[in-house]
Amino acid sequence: MNSNTLSLTLFTTVSAIFAPLSAFSQTQVEAIPVTENIFHFSGTQANCVMLKESDGTLVVDSANTLDIAKDLQATIKTTGSGPVDYLINTHWHYDHVNGNPVFADAEATIVAHKAVRSKLQMTPTQEGNALLPKNALPEICFDQDLTIFFENETVYIYHPETDGAHTMGDSVVYFKTSNVIAMGDLLFAGMYPYIDPNDNGWPQGMVAALHDVEKMIDDKTIVIPGHGPVTDKKGLQESADMLQDIGQKIDIMIKEGKTLEQIKKARPTADWDEKYGKVWMNGDTFTELVYNCLKNHR
Ligand SMILES: [Zn+2]
Repeated sequence: MNSNTLSLTLFTTVSAIFAPLSAFSQTQVEAIPVTENIFHFSGTQANCVMLKESDGTLVVDSANTLDIAKDLQATIKTTGSGPVDYLINTHWHYDHVNGNPVFADAEATIVAHKAVRSKLQMTPTQEGNALLPKNALPEICFDQDLTIFFENETVYIYHPETDGAHTMGDSVVYFKTSNVIAMGDLLFAGMYPYIDPNDNGWPQGMVAALHDVEKMIDDKTIVIPGHGPVTDKKGLQESADMLQDIGQKIDIMIKEGKTLEQIKKARPTADWDEKYGKVWMNGDTFTELVYNCLKNHR
């Protein structure tokens, strides 16, 4: 199987053929192949992604608890991979960083946008309201982008230039050779996305970031969201359209002086609720979140 030509259509077939690699282990975390060398994992709350190369292993996001990160680590071993060399944090939210200590203790180098490190230095994410230990903070940080070269894969880590999107320090991880992209929480597939009103997140920033990423990828790119099932460029574009539409409608109503209750009554999410409002947030909850984001945005 040539990973370069693997299309999204094939993905379902491939997943069905490859039994979950953890089927015979003790862990709840399952490795699901995306291509020959790239896997994503179920059971980790947010989607974690792994690149397994002969000259190294890279993981995107470290799961929501230490226990699940240990399961993730065990599942990674079942794929035949060596220890994790690089861990990328797509942003600072707990469900993407709380397993960092497990990988840091196993000598992984942690990489993230500089805003992720500074946020994690001050913001408790761990159980018991604790900060991440110092050795589990990102140690290589970048402003806009960073590339890691493996013998057979180029990994491009990119921070879309916005004044806040999902958070202030979002990155995507683009496996250029395999044409697979891990979106972090800039993309929730098939559901309304969380946007962080307390870290300058807002729908317009999400839209700008998604349009930025759109220019990097093509119709064959396999797109792995931060939450939800694997999708493609079309799924990404539709998510941007949804955010643009709802964000604009609520923004206009705020500028007209409408209250949150009046805005909810106007049902700005009506056109999208059937497709996006059934998994966790409904239209009303998402309207309130967008309202708070727009009110808080600096
Ligand atoms: Zn998040």
